[in-house]
Amino acid sequence: MLDADFFRRWMTATAASVDREAERLTALDSPIGDADHGSNLQRGFTAVIAALEKEAPDTPGAILVLAGRQLISTVGGASGPLYGTLLRRTGKALGDAAEVGEEQLAEALRAGVDAVMQLGGATPGDKTMIDALVPAVDALGDSFGAARAAAEQGALATTPLQARKGRASYLGERSIGHQDPGATSSALLIAGLVEAAD
Ligand code: ADP
Ligand code: MG
Ligand code: MG
Repeated sequence: MLDADFFRRWMTATAASVDREAERLTALDSPIGDADHGSNLQRGFTAVIAALEKEAPDTPGAILVLAGRQLISTVGGASGPLYGTLLRRTGKALGDAAEVGEEQLAEALRAGVDAVMQLGGATPGDKTMIDALVPAVDALGDSFGAARAAAEQGALATTPLQARKGRASYLGERSIGHQDPGATSSALLIAGLVEAAD
């Protein structure tokens, strides 16, 4: 079973990898965006960690709802509301249980990803974070490791795609040949599950 400490470790591991990879995320956002994705998420996850320390929510659901709220209020840009919705909706789906099973987390994340698709209007193949998140959720039934591999593969597979949502879509065909920054950061989020489980 996954308890509140697991979810805190998940957020801490994600914040650390976002810190580590911030420059790369911003560099990916340079040719097909406005070169702020790394700094956006760094600001957001720094606020998430501070809020978790201050408010100390003690259930998995409350931790993700608080994290999502912080991302919505601090990140700005397209990715703030989208990542915020992902975590908030996932947290709401977990309810107020003290511990949740892996299957329950997979179901809740599926609800979160569905909410992101509804909010942003993106579907798989549009060259967005959805291209990492959907395969990850599909693989989550197998293991966290399988979900991480699927998310990383999904992020790499955005390179040959033409963007149909977000800033990168303004470039039309010129968006082809660049890996999507949001899909790349989504793979970091999913990799955080593996680290939290270690
Ligand atoms: P902004 O584009 O506002 O500067 P960011 O740079 O932080 O925001 O985030 C860009 C990322 O957000 C993209 O790489 C893409 O993965 C994701 N994104 C943008 N629009 C959408 C959307 N409508 N649906 C899903 N993801 C999106
Ligand atoms: Mg940007
Ligand atoms: Mg921006």
